[in-house]
This record gives sequence, structure tokens and C-alpha cells, in this order.
Amino acid sequence: MSLLADCLSKTEEVAEDYCLGRLDAEAAVAFEAHYLACPRCAQLVESTQDFLMSFRLLMSRESVLAGSDTTFSAD
Ligand SMILES: [Zn+2]
Repeated sequence: MSLLADCLSKTEEVAEDYCLGRLDAEAAVAFEAHYLACPRCAQLVESTQDFLMSFRLLMSRESVLAGSDTTFSAD
């Protein structure tokens, strides 16, 4: 079992990438398998997602306040 050894190397970075959807499918699946078995990473993912959620909430509130109707276009 090298779960914990993997964990201690660069999990924070990976957890952040995972939460941001930056990992490719294979890496995401591998990380999911890891953090579901690893309390440390589960907590890391949870706190990162919490942070991202409040950050997005803040951003969306600000763009509503600014009256922007920004939509993503192909341009
Ligand atoms: Zn871990």
C-alpha cells in the first residue's frame, strides 16, 4: 500500500486541480480512489471544495451586482 506515501508528496496540489476539474479523467479517477480511502485527502478535498464554493458564490454575486450579462461565447 503506497497510499500514504503518495499522499504526502503533492496531494494539496492534486486536490486543488481535482476540485478545479484540471485533472484528466484518468488522474481524476485515480485521485478519487485515493482520497476515498485516505481521510487526510478527503478532508483536503472537502476544504478545497468549500473554499471554491464560497469563492464562486462571491464571484457570481459580484457579477450580478455589476449587472454584467457575461455569457461564454465562442469568441
Ligand atoms: Zn491521501
